[in-house]
Amino acid sequence: MNFLDELNVPRAINASGRMTALGVNTLSDEVLAAVAEAGRSYVDMRELRQATEERIARLIGAEDAMITTGAAAGVALMVAACVAGDDLNRVQSLPDPLGHPNQILLQAGHQASFGAPIVQMIRMAGGQPCAVGLVNSVSEAHLTGAFGPQTAAFLYVQSHHTVHKGMLSLARCVELCTDEGVPVLIDAAAEENLTHFVQSGAALVTFSGGKAIGGPTSGIVAGRRGLVQTCRAQNGGIGRPMKVGKEQILGLWVALELYMRRDVAAEQARNRALVDKLLAGFAPLAETRRLADEAGRGIERAGIVLTPERAAALVDFLERGSPPIHIRGHLVNTGIVAFDPRPLAREDVGIIVKQVGEFFGKKADAN
Ligand SMILES: *Cc1c(COP(=O)(O)O)cnc(C)c1O
Repeated sequence: MNFLDELNVPRAINASGRMTALGVNTLSDEVLAAVAEAGRSYVDMRELRQATEERIARLIGAEDAMITTGAAAGVALMVAACVAGDDLNRVQSLPDPLGHPNQILLQAGHQASFGAPIVQMIRMAGGQPCAVGLVNSVSEAHLTGAFGPQTAAFLYVQSHHTVHKGMLSLARCVELCTDEGVPVLIDAAAEENLTHFVQSGAALVTFSGGKAIGGPTSGIVAGRRGLVQTCRAQNGGIGRPMKVGKEQILGLWVALELYMRRDVAAEQARNRALVDKLLAGFAPLAETRRLADEAGRGIERAGIVLTPERAAALVDFLERGSPPIHIRGHLVNTGIVAFDPRPLAREDVGIIVKQVGEFFGKKADAN
């Protein structure tokens, strides 16, 4: 298996997180076996979808679930379902809403980019994004004042990419929207607690299959039975360029089975041990800090505290090294270089500490 060598594309050390730019995830042997089995087989795709989607819905406690190419496609399909319904002419006319209600409300601080703008996923599905409130301050009056005859849905974006300060909580948004009969959609792409969002009272929620779940590039839309079925209807329209393959379908289901049965405590202990090792290795070199997750998930990271200029220089040095090391850059503008333990192999820690030592002109190792 030296295809990467043949291409001269080096393997990278990922201390960043579930990053699309780094290949998101590595697949377990069980998931790889599922992908290979699918790749070797012809099947009736409808039967495969139905069997896996039923199991996926049951696993996450949803009435129904649909497999997608990712959470970005999930946002587009959820919006399309709310704008076009399952009327064939309307489905096949998107992104033209043919005059039907198409406003998709979202809090101003949720108009983030995950690598592409969330509002563009809304537009491509025929929705008109309508920002509610201000970038760092949204009140209930902003939201209730935005409801009107053109409102098709409300989208809540749960992510470290968004503004957190000054936004309305998910629970409050669900209450206010439910009172008005407005369906709530959630983009929970990278979240770990899937059932929490499924049971939040939202009509539909989308997850990335390749992030927390550890599946191949894929995603899930889960929620109310009728609405998930309406999302499926979009496969005869804008869903078609988001076609899901049998490898993704079988791989995602196996990954989700493993994910829902995982030993969270053991995983956290493993990650904490890696963070401890990194911090101990960095301590003789620079000021260190144990960091909490930006979005409040139960993830700890190892941080090195520098000036913003030195932090940027360290990031650059590590990325140019051999092997290239990619860190979590969300706080580099404040001088903090963060290392995410989740995607690291144990042997990566020593390599990282050594390279960081080289940046400081010192010999360093991790014990
Ligand atoms: C990653 C991400 C997406 C896109 O998910 P894919 O599965 O890569 O399509 C959408 N929204 C948010 C908030 C994300 O973090």
